[in-house]
Amino acid sequence: MGQYGRHNQNKHLGWLRRFLKAKKYYEEVGWNEEEILRWPIFSVKKMYIRMRGEFPKVEWRRFICNNAAPPRWTFILYLALNERLQTRERLAAWGIVDDLRCVLCSSGMDSSEHLFFVCKYSATLWRKILQWMHIDRQVLGWKEKITWALRHFKGKHALVEIFRMALAASIYAVWQERNNRIIQNKLRPVGVLIRKIVHEFTLEEGGRQN
Ligand SMILES: [Zn+2]
Repeated sequence: MGQYGRHNQNKHLGWLRRFLKAKKYYEEVGWNEEEILRWPIFSVKKMYIRMRGEFPKVEWRRFICNNAAPPRWTFILYLALNERLQTRERLAAWGIVDDLRCVLCSSGMDSSEHLFFVCKYSATLWRKILQWMHIDRQVLGWKEKITWALRHFKGKHALVEIFRMALAASIYAVWQERNNRIIQNKLRPVGVLIRKIVHEFTLEEGGRQN
């Protein structure tokens, strides 16, 4: 077990099991793990179009409804995916605001497409969350564990379950940060958000397993 205790080992194997269980579902959407890791940025819109195009409506709804994330996360996810968040881009269309700048990076536009996750700030967050979800490869010997786990665990939906939750958590955090900046003029470095997501995610995940 090397330098890691049984607790850590079990915890990480739990994650791994969930990832691998949903591998098939993940691939059905047309992605594989390597592809997602390679993406420098992730566009919700891109995913939405892809899933809407390739999945029957009921499957798409399941992405939201069967999301194990708490409702406050999935609600924002739902609004984001349906382009219903009150971004400056939308408000400007109604003549409510003039300043369209993204408050996270000051260079892009405050729109759903930019915020999730083309924006430099949120792209960093999403990249780190994905990296975190795939666990520290060097420390855990990720490749060997995958090979091992592929032989031992079968099933589906667990990986995408984690993915859905992580996506919901990240979108929620970005939207909250964006609102905090506009309403309260409070700025948090991206590292603070990432730690918060990881913390809350772990609590949610732990709660679901108990
Ligand atoms: Zn931005």
